[in-house]
Amino acid sequence: MFDHRSFATPPVAPALPPRYADVVLPRRLHRPFTYLIPSSLKGQVAIGQSVIVPFGSQDLHGLVTAVYDRLPLGAPEQGLKAVRCLAPASPDHLLTSSQIDLSRWVADRYAAPWGQCIKLVAPFVDQVDRRPSRYRPTAQGTDNSSLPEGLGEVETQVLSRLRRRPKGITEGTLAQGDKSRVMRAVQILIRRGLVVRCDDAVVPRAARAKKPPSPGAEQAVFARLTVDDLPPPLDAAAWPDTVGRALLQDAYGSFLIQGARATRLWCLVQAARAAIRRGRRVLVVTGDVENAGRLAEALAAAGERPLLLHSGLSARERAAVWQSAQDSSATILVGTRMAVFAPIDRLGLVWVEGEDDASLKEEQSPRYHAREVARRRAFCNRALLVLASSHPSLESWSAVQHGEMTACVYRDPSGFPRVQVIDLREYSRETPAGTLLSPPLYEGIQEALRQNALAILYLNRKGFASVLHCGDCGAMPQCDACSVALTFFRRSNHVRCHYCGRTKPVPDHCTRCQSLKLEPVGSGTERIEEAVRRKFPLARVGRVDGETIRRPADARAFSRLLAAGELDIVIGTQMLFRFGLQARAAFVGVPDADAGLHVPDFRSAERMYHGLMDAVELALPAHAGGAVMIQTRLTDHHAIMAVAAGDDSVFLQQEQAFRQMLQYPPLTSLVRLDVSGTLEPVVAQAAGRWAALLRAEVVSAGNRGTNAGDGSPLPQRSTGFGGETSSIVILGPSPAPHAMARGRYCWQILVKSLSLEVGKEIVVRTREVLDRESRRGGLRFDIDVDPVAMA
Ligand SMILES: [Zn+2]
Ligand SMILES: [Zn+2]
Repeated sequence: MFDHRSFATPPVAPALPPRYADVVLPRRLHRPFTYLIPSSLKGQVAIGQSVIVPFGSQDLHGLVTAVYDRLPLGAPEQGLKAVRCLAPASPDHLLTSSQIDLSRWVADRYAAPWGQCIKLVAPFVDQVDRRPSRYRPTAQGTDNSSLPEGLGEVETQVLSRLRRRPKGITEGTLAQGDKSRVMRAVQILIRRGLVVRCDDAVVPRAARAKKPPSPGAEQAVFARLTVDDLPPPLDAAAWPDTVGRALLQDAYGSFLIQGARATRLWCLVQAARAAIRRGRRVLVVTGDVENAGRLAEALAAAGERPLLLHSGLSARERAAVWQSAQDSSATILVGTRMAVFAPIDRLGLVWVEGEDDASLKEEQSPRYHAREVARRRAFCNRALLVLASSHPSLESWSAVQHGEMTACVYRDPSGFPRVQVIDLREYSRETPAGTLLSPPLYEGIQEALRQNALAILYLNRKGFASVLHCGDCGAMPQCDACSVALTFFRRSNHVRCHYCGRTKPVPDHCTRCQSLKLEPVGSGTERIEEAVRRKFPLARVGRVDGETIRRPADARAFSRLLAAGELDIVIGTQMLFRFGLQARAAFVGVPDADAGLHVPDFRSAERMYHGLMDAVELALPAHAGGAVMIQTRLTDHHAIMAVAAGDDSVFLQQEQAFRQMLQYPPLTSLVRLDVSGTLEPVVAQAAGRWAALLRAEVVSAGNRGTNAGDGSPLPQRSTGFGGETSSIVILGPSPAPHAMARGRYCWQILVKSLSLEVGKEIVVRTREVLDRESRRGGLRFDIDVDPVAMA
């Protein structure tokens, strides 16, 4: 039963078959439930087995996480329900102990219901397979010379029908009329070996190597990279050695690679080959479907046969991939977030591509971060973890500084374009109102058109419309305590910090330059395309954003246009980076570099910096005439200065100082609590109650002097909202920035702490109190540990 599966700890002693089982139900439930194992199932119920159990008035699928030969402590003997039966086979009906451990780890790490976490490692366990079963005769059953003896009338009829249809008949067709009699007959025929049930196997989709590009396609913007076409990047020449030596250790190790996309791809293929040579398997996780497809193709082109797993596949296809991963038939699995849980063993390499991508964080409960799960998997498998990005996250740089990871920076400055910063304040008169296109930016586009070369304009559309900024100097009204943009409420004419909840009337002037021109952000970018078309009526302009590119086919059509040289100017959002644009432009313009800063999120500067670096990567190197022009009103912002200088450390040092001063991650841990419901006063009251419980916990922990944290108190500046004096600060409650979503009101509380464990502990303890005392009334209490999107 457990062939090819290894258990770290064997189940309970075999002498006595276990009589009780703990079962986790794939629901929003934190704990397993204990069931009796009926005598009919003695010896069949083991750890990892999927079973069907009564729960309330329903029968539910569940997974056995522990078995006992005597009643576990605390379980009531009276009224204990019994396991109904074993669940029908599904690709995940039998979990290994390491899969159970992983789900348990996610539940602990993210303070999430274990029931939801077990669904991550067993996503198909309660999915009913709606495929009709087919029955067909076996070789013995088709032997026409003799009709087997001892068959009843119905059996004979059924067998004769099946013999006329050797490909089989579905259950529905076969059992028309008297279903129970026919199916009884079928069971008899199966037992006699005359008939078999055959379910169509789904063949998992392996990425196929694409044909080599045809001559002349080298300008293809979305050109398929075949790794062997790429020369080893000079700056990464040491990588094969580095990775080879690390793999020899057969121990957990971790690297952070910073490099251009092509360089990282090359490094990935080298690392994957090295791991496979050592008989180990490879897991590659990335933030989006397009990128997963591209990575799989690159690996396929390098001679591997990667399996692809992402949400774009049907449930059946996903189940087939899951099965193949489990069968050990795949050496490489590439996928999005969900792939990090795939049952692939003997892992030698876990690669997270684009490790700073916010989409690696799940936004629904359980809100895990795939990068952290990848780290855990690499650690448990004694494998190598590689985090790769053009611009690693502050979290990963911090891990490098703490000696937890080794950084490999593979950036070749000779590949950088010329970067020019334009101070929009100097051109306010010449720049048509609302277009943000200054004369130098127009000249840059004009120059590219003259050379018959491509010009790209990158617009950050993640701007936040309900934030004010100064039309003259670009400064935003910010919360004095939290240093995030204040959210603007037009109707009541006030601004509010959605971290700490502080509210004040809309300021009447800019505190930086005293200008009276405070206006909502985002009005400018809408008209850029129109202005460009007016200015360059003969140019062929293409747009790449969420509206124009809805399906992969749209992206392909766009790439064909660009490859055929049918476009002169491309205007696009973050979507530009998503497709792995290969053609590099002679001119890249960023009309409003400050747009991303307006998002009320402490990471907004980091995101803005990453966006600018991505934009720079779209341009040709300076020696090939590549130029980037960045328009800003904040010329002394550290992100702008770092991009202009091509020097990460300019950004990192100042950003880390900022996080340190305001006690934001990665220097502290953050837990966001969301309370949502359909009645706003009820939501507000419940959020207030939770915050009060938290503050009481903090105070009593402080008095006990035990678990109040392990560092110095947070600075005075961040405290004072609830009188906390310990190393935990409770901010809020306040309405979430999108206070109402899908008909539900949402309020939030932030818990900042120096130690994640300490912060999480009081959150979990207070949630248990709320669970006990509230009848819920449609209220939801959600916990987001290490939130990524704060707005
Ligand atoms: Zn100003
Ligand atoms: Zn605040």
